[in-house]
Amino acid sequence: MECATVREESCCAGPSRAPAKIDTKPQEAKTPQAELMSQWADTIKKVIFIVGGAVIVFAAACNSLTWHLQSFWGASGDFWNRQWMKVYHLFGGNLFMLEVVGTQMVTFVFYWLFNAFFLFVDITGKPAFILKYKIQDDQNTPVPWPKLRKALQTVLFNQFFVNIPFAVFLYVMMQLRGCNISADLPTFKWVLVELGVFLIFEEIGFYYFHRLLHHPRMYKHFHKKHHEWTAPIGVTAIYAHPLEHVLANMLPPVIGPLLMGSHVAVLWVWFLIVEASAIVAHCGYHLPLLPSPEAHDFHHLKFTNCYGTLGILDRLHGTDNLFRESKNYPRHILLLGLVPLSQTFPDDPKQKRKDLEGKKAD
Ligand SMILES: [Zn+2]
Ligand SMILES: [Zn+2]
Repeated sequence: MECATVREESCCAGPSRAPAKIDTKPQEAKTPQAELMSQWADTIKKVIFIVGGAVIVFAAACNSLTWHLQSFWGASGDFWNRQWMKVYHLFGGNLFMLEVVGTQMVTFVFYWLFNAFFLFVDITGKPAFILKYKIQDDQNTPVPWPKLRKALQTVLFNQFFVNIPFAVFLYVMMQLRGCNISADLPTFKWVLVELGVFLIFEEIGFYYFHRLLHHPRMYKHFHKKHHEWTAPIGVTAIYAHPLEHVLANMLPPVIGPLLMGSHVAVLWVWFLIVEASAIVAHCGYHLPLLPSPEAHDFHHLKFTNCYGTLGILDRLHGTDNLFRESKNYPRHILLLGLVPLSQTFPDDPKQKRKDLEGKKAD
């Protein structure tokens, strides 16, 4: 699964922002050393911004939710502990059931609930106003049924025949690591620290496994299937060969929790964050207030750029060069208004004509 990202400019971006001007001044060529330094500086900035930003947003959302629950429903300070106790007792305190069955139930239900909205729009084309946020506006509107049926079959296969054995493997690994699965939750501050660590290992694991899958010897056997969708839709987040599903989607998110010896409840929260961001990254719509899916959508379109989840390692390795020159790059921000970014940063008409001619020639 891939996480959608929010770029640094997002804090100042909005519908009123004027389209980017094209700089016509001749640029001084950078030396390779200067280019490398600039890549490192950008990478460090991205790590601070993305990891710090994600932790702050998560903390603010949770604090605000807890405050509302306390204010309106009279919940006491240990609200989350009491909720967890209910779940814990629902599974009879059986740790295998909690880790294997519980994790599967939570992730399965969330995947289909979140995708239900995008599937409805992709199949019916309604509500029509959502279509103006489509990134590749001429693709999959509506999505062809045979292609969709094949995707649904593969996704269900992965959820039942890959996820469940993997959950058993994870249970054994968590037992060996001595992960915390008690009735008591860790402190909220510690959860934030762990989420920051998970995010870094997800970026490292996903980037390098994904690049490995693009090696010519691996690509045609294992990764080509996922790239059948050059304009992905939400449900194709885990449309993949089983080996790819394990390497790219299942392993990177569990590296952090295994290293940290995390509590199973934190694991559930983390898996839902990973699932949500993977679905958004593939959904094909750049919607207001959701992280930008432009980078991963570009990866599906062009194949050789934007391998990572956060864009940090792509910057470091220079595998975002085409993306940074593309029309999608200025749009790779958090949309804070209702005007689609394809209107704020319109296509270059000459380039659009070239693209159309290229498509006809194919
Ligand atoms: Zn993908
Ligand atoms: Zn790929």
